[in-house]
Amino acid sequence: MSGAEYEVMIIGAGPAGMTAALYCRRKGLHTLILSKDFGGQANWTTVVENYMGFMEIDGPELMRRFKEQLPGENLTMLEDEAIAFRAEDGHFLVEGKESGAHRGKAVIVATGKRPKKLNVPGEDSLRGKGVSYCSTCDAPLFRAAEVAVVGGGNSGVQAVLDLLAVGARTVYLVTDMEITADPVLAEQIQNHPQVRIYPYSRVVAVHGEKLVTGITVRLEQNETEEELAVEGLFIEIGLEPNSEIFPELWKNQRGEIVVDCHCRTSSSGVFAAGDVTNLPEKQIIIAAGEGAKAAITAWEYVTKVGALQASAAI
Ligand SMILES: Cc1cc2nc3c(=O)[nH]c(=O)nc-3n(C[C@H](O)[C@H](O)[C@H](O)COP(=O)(O)OP(=O)(O)OC[C@H]3O[C@@H](n4cnc5c(N)ncnc54)[C@H](O)[C@@H]3O)c2cc1C
Repeated sequence: MSGAEYEVMIIGAGPAGMTAALYCRRKGLHTLILSKDFGGQANWTTVVENYMGFMEIDGPELMRRFKEQLPGENLTMLEDEAIAFRAEDGHFLVEGKESGAHRGKAVIVATGKRPKKLNVPGEDSLRGKGVSYCSTCDAPLFRAAEVAVVGGGNSGVQAVLDLLAVGARTVYLVTDMEITADPVLAEQIQNHPQVRIYPYSRVVAVHGEKLVTGITVRLEQNETEEELAVEGLFIEIGLEPNSEIFPELWKNQRGEIVVDCHCRTSSSGVFAAGDVTNLPEKQIIIAAGEGAKAAITAWEYVTKVGALQASAAI
């Protein structure tokens, strides 16, 4: 275990975690922020037009500015993955994959969400070799290519539009029902000459050795399969919370950590903020605001009731 003992440990450094870290530092709390990366999902966004104070800013640039604002006395910033969490002797222990165990009086969980997987053969081995979960990041790699998108919601249709915008030759949209995207998006692709829509269909395999060379699509209505020769597959079927290492007791059926309006979880001394929680509306400005609130509640806990034992309930 690292020798240091923190007053607050923040797991995750997206907008929620970084804002929590700034507030903890400014409250004079001895704080650790430990995260796989600094920026989170906002790093996947090309242009942000709804963060107050900026008419338009690149997601990664906004996150660079968040990070730039953090360093200062009392704050330790570690790039690492938390692989385990437990309560012990009235404290909490967070196990970093590389950095080992860290001990603290209070914890703020701000681990956000990640894209859902299809869980089909070839998906994992070809990730980054044609399989992508972020059209904003990777669409420009598929100029003049044949590409498929899975998902008929807003993000799926937006991925089709992103690919058309960069000059993809043909875009196949595979969805297990009808297109459910907002009409304003859906109508842009419905009769597009370069888009072929496969409703009530599923991608059941991704093919390729070094790079994606094709996919198998199962058409549920007539129970047939079709091979599509594509160089890319964008999987846009939603997001799921990064909450596996935390107790089931804290979560709802979707795996989100349930919090009250002060960002308190069901365990005393543990707070959560941002997309990993059950609060509706997943946005940068909301995650940042929730991070600030979690930090203030954690500060109240550490300074006023921190002498209490960490919850025995977990
Ligand atoms: C493509 C895309 C475009 C978007 N565009 C916009 C937009 O224009 N405007 C807007 O307001 N919102 C937008 N959003 C939503 C916005 O990005 C999120 O609501 C916001 O980033 C949530 O912040 P967060 O801090 O809660 O979580 P995240 O941003 O998900 O950050 C979580 C952090 O925790 C880390 N982490 C996860 N698990 C662990 C672990 N076990 N150990 C250590 N670290 C861990 C992650 O690596 C990450 O750094 C967009 C999202 C996407 C995917």
